[in-house]
Amino acid sequence: MSTPPPAPMSSVLKMPVESIRIYNTLSRTKEAFVPVEPGKVGIYLCGPTVYKEAHIGHMVGPVIFDTVARYLTYCGFEVKWVVNITDVDDKLIAQAEQRQIPMAQVATQMTADYCANLLEMGVDQITEMPRATENMNEIIEFIGQLIDREFAYSADGDVFFDVVRNSEYGKLTNRSPDDQQGEGGKAASKKRSPGDFALWKAARPGEPSWESPWGQGRPGWHIECSAMSRRFLGETFDIHGGGLDLTFPHHENEIAQSECCHGQPMAKYWMHNGLMRASTATGKVGGRSERETDADGDTAEASEETKISRSKGAGGLRTLLAEHGGELIRYFLLRTHYRSTIVFGPEGLEEAGTALDKFYTFFDRYTRVTGKSFYLTESDEEDRSVIQRRDAGELASDSEGLLSEVADLRQSFLTKMDDDFNTGGATSDLFLILNVLNRYVEQNRLEENKADPDHVAQFSRAVETFRELAALLGLFLKPQSRAGGGASEEVLDKVLQLMIQMRTDARANKDFATSDRIRDELAEVGVTLEDRKEGTVWRLG
Ligand SMILES: [Zn+2]
Repeated sequence: MSTPPPAPMSSVLKMPVESIRIYNTLSRTKEAFVPVEPGKVGIYLCGPTVYKEAHIGHMVGPVIFDTVARYLTYCGFEVKWVVNITDVDDKLIAQAEQRQIPMAQVATQMTADYCANLLEMGVDQITEMPRATENMNEIIEFIGQLIDREFAYSADGDVFFDVVRNSEYGKLTNRSPDDQQGEGGKAASKKRSPGDFALWKAARPGEPSWESPWGQGRPGWHIECSAMSRRFLGETFDIHGGGLDLTFPHHENEIAQSECCHGQPMAKYWMHNGLMRASTATGKVGGRSERETDADGDTAEASEETKISRSKGAGGLRTLLAEHGGELIRYFLLRTHYRSTIVFGPEGLEEAGTALDKFYTFFDRYTRVTGKSFYLTESDEEDRSVIQRRDAGELASDSEGLLSEVADLRQSFLTKMDDDFNTGGATSDLFLILNVLNRYVEQNRLEENKADPDHVAQFSRAVETFRELAALLGLFLKPQSRAGGGASEEVLDKVLQLMIQMRTDARANKDFATSDRIRDELAEVGVTLEDRKEGTVWRLG
């Protein structure tokens, strides 16, 4: 990988980098955040296996890392955030068979569902969403390098990672290779030791497959993350994220693959979010939920839907979003520290709704006082850019009264975010600021006609700070109908470009059923695709 040129001085932050601390699963301590390359941050988050519609547990990681990306950008870093899409997997193959449609069609539909949900939740900081099937060359090359370096071996069309050759195997979770036991079966007999896991699986009849030096086949799950993170972020990058349930075996196996291949750390900081538990049942509903190790030593998603359906009120993300709107769900997820278990249930949602209503009520009040909407419009772009930089948002230090009180709370908010992205603590500070603002309006009778213009000006300045901090959590960026907000143009374009790419791929593979379906389904929601010489473009209507 070539090293990109250093960041220009203008993007190097003023604030001391040492103020941000991250809990690193690898060291089990909070560490000062020092990026691999000054001023830049590369983040990789293990994304979904797109075989079924997303549920709320799938949104935990994206919402958290979207907030992390917003915060790091605000602190002056140039952030690149990659979320992979697993679009070839046992579960996808099984779904395709069951529904009698091509696997690519299952993947396309479920990726669209996933992306639509992300938009509803205000997750729009993702830089790249690479799909496994689009990265076969990188994956095959990676496996070849592991074989060359004698960390992997081929056996009758399959390729396995040789865990015994990796003395550091299990360092993330303090486990030994023996813990990764296959369940036996055909593939198990080809392995040198039971803990070896599949990098490449020989094609079985009727399954989608790709050509490789070891014959027709498809990649294991773990290798795609090693290959795609290297392609987009380099051999060593800053932050690797995922649900706590992915630490073993998935992340251990990613580390083994990448570090044996490159002889250097895969990621500096391993961040794991806690999972979600239903308040009415003991089953968890979160993360990429439980994975089972199959006979190939690869892993597959356990039947988490069963667990969710057992717990009342969980699942049904589409329904949840329709009922509550994306902002409420996002706020609900961010109230808890990302490393804690999120208890999901109707009570929690109701509490979140009541809290949000207090904010919305205040925004109406703001309009009565200032005659302006709380929400910035396109023409307020300048105001918006001012609050997107941490050093630009400082309140004048000689200020007294309202502004000094708000400045203290701002500092408290930032200190909490610096401390391992404590969004739960930060939302509490947002509430405290809200209380201060409400009290100021009441004490100075700002809603009355003869309000002192100086007081109104002070109040407006304080609200700017409130807006600045809320934006870091991805909250209150645009008016919400309770049934969810609309996506921004830019985000819409990102998603549609993804859909166009999928349609182009489907056509290249002569899968016209899928390509037609993408076109027709987009037409149904009012998006027209036009095939032009220079490529496909989209327009509304
Ligand atoms: Zn992964």
